[in-house]
Amino acid sequence: MQRTENNTKVRVSEIFTSFEGEGLFVGKKTLFIRLSGCHLKCRWCDTKYALPLDSGTDYQIDEIKDLIVKELQPFTYKVNFTGGEPLLQIEAVIQLADFIKKYTNLRTYIESSCFDFELFRRVLPYMDICKVEFKTEDSKVVKDDEYYYLLLNEFRCLELAVQNNKTTYIKIVVTNSTNLESFKNLVYNISKKVKPSEIMGFIIQPTYGIDQPTINKLLDTYDIVQPMFPDVRIIPQLHKEIGAR
Ligand code: SF4
Repeated sequence: MQRTENNTKVRVSEIFTSFEGEGLFVGKKTLFIRLSGCHLKCRWCDTKYALPLDSGTDYQIDEIKDLIVKELQPFTYKVNFTGGEPLLQIEAVIQLADFIKKYTNLRTYIESSCFDFELFRRVLPYMDICKVEFKTEDSKVVKDDEYYYLLLNEFRCLELAVQNNKTTYIKIVVTNSTNLESFKNLVYNISKKVKPSEIMGFIIQPTYGIDQPTINKLLDTYDIVQPMFPDVRIIPQLHKEIGAR
């Protein structure tokens, strides 16, 4: 699954500047590097065009470095490695993040499903900000017998990000069908791994347009998280509201 055959190439879906649309840094001007390929199946995924590994365009790493220089705008706050699933092309992500760290003063940000903690561990030295996303059991983003393994990796990624003093926050996507008991178990298990003081925030992200949660549903999820992580917030996706990418 991982694309390692050629370390000088990278398959990129798009590279552009916009506003961060999700999570803790919503509204911050960001350069997005969207890598192609993701093997998960989130029904709310809004970048389906980037899911096939052969989507997007093959570039030499140096071509992307040139594009980064060209696309970089003044007052950009950070560079997001997103997807798709950036860890599938980890060698390229490491080279590009290293380039950004050496030649700019920008923060680097990894946006991953955290499906493989060993890959996550390798990319961590090059990242400043980690969004660790947890998928609920009923979200069916992987086969039932693969969920436990995904969860173990997500937990391990969270621990690694915190242990390495990265700016870390947690995100969980909630739909109107999200099972509250399963959601509560997940949050409880997360609370056994990290203290609230070790993370920068806990974000509940409502889906947009697809099985969109009601306000009551969001209030229920907020009330589950708040006693364990007092800094919980409901944050919808800004880019959909303002018509940005
Ligand atoms: S993990 Fe992200 S990129 Fe992959 S299917 Fe889910 S939402 Fe889409």
